[in-house]
Amino acid sequence: MGDIFVLVEHRQGKIRDITYEMLGLGEKIFTQQGATLTALLLGKGVNSFAEDLATRAPKVLVIEDDQLENFNSLCYQRVLSSLISKYQPFLTLIGHTAFGMDLAPSLSVEMDLPMVTDCIGLSLEAKRLKGTRSIYGGKVNANISLKESKGYIATIRPGTFSPKIPGDKKGGIILEPSPLKEAVDAKKFLKYIEAPITGEDITQAEIIISVGQGIGGPEHIPMIEEVAKNLGGVVACSRPVVDRNWLPKERQVGISGKTVKPKVYIAVGISGAFQHVTAMQGSETIIAINKDPRAPIFGVADYGIVDDFQNVMPILKEKTKK
Ligand code: FAD
Repeated sequence: MGDIFVLVEHRQGKIRDITYEMLGLGEKIFTQQGATLTALLLGKGVNSFAEDLATRAPKVLVIEDDQLENFNSLCYQRVLSSLISKYQPFLTLIGHTAFGMDLAPSLSVEMDLPMVTDCIGLSLEAKRLKGTRSIYGGKVNANISLKESKGYIATIRPGTFSPKIPGDKKGGIILEPSPLKEAVDAKKFLKYIEAPITGEDITQAEIIISVGQGIGGPEHIPMIEEVAKNLGGVVACSRPVVDRNWLPKERQVGISGKTVKPKVYIAVGISGAFQHVTAMQGSETIIAINKDPRAPIFGVADYGIVDDFQNVMPILKEKTKK
């Protein structure tokens, strides 16, 4: 097996966590099979990033160019296609992020390489890459087996794999000449606009009422917000609630959302999947309201109420008014 390329994602002077997660994945699964992990760092003035990455990957390829200062999928595609042609990696890992979704499909078409997207698992079986994708809101995992090929592209879901932590050994840093010979002007980076923080920062809250798919619909959220307000707390949620657009992403608790440690965490209509529990089990007191007595959330709860939330929340609303 040849190289495994990991495309480094950085934004506003910071390497994004997905990079470290892909390095962790690459090392865990593929380097045991003799592959060399190579971080691909595209940018301008990115020496400090290269030093950091060299503590986590045996090889860092750096391509510096004014046009790579900010992410531009056309520039990235030209550089990546040139590097893939030159080094013929077995696999190129790209984050399943706004960057990766913009870049990976057209790269796959240009290079005629099979691709699997939004992977939560990857393996190699009989020389064919197999990707696991979570579908139907996390209810089903689909295993996708790609056709045999000299190389593959996979995009990786953020928050799924343990990040590679820095080691004692330092990898080699190789400066590659930029293949961008002329200006790319079909698409231009104009400016970076940070998404506005709307509402509360759930990571700072002392009391959280977190709602899950079990509340059945967004029409119940105002009542839950009222209870949270009475208690001086905030409303958070599980991932399906965000997927259904009942609440914004910044309210999501879980491995692909935020980790919270409030004094009190009230889980309403949340089953207690490990992707959720991992990020809230550090809460001081956990109270679960769920109509299914076998729901796994009761396994981490200090107090449990087995009932329909619609019977419990109005009582809480009245009590907390006082
Ligand atoms: P469900 O599993 O549908 O549970 C609903 C619960 O509500 C059930 O226990 C039911 O008994 C109860 N209920 C139903 N009606 C009522 C009622 N009237 N009153 C009281 N209780 C009721 N999930 C996250 O939350 N955060 C993450 O960050 C996250 N990241 C993920 C990352 C990956 C890679 C994957 C694969 C999955 C991730 N998930 C995440 C999804 C996770 O696996 C679960 O699917 C999700 O947490 C389930 O959400 P839920 O508990 O709201 O819904």
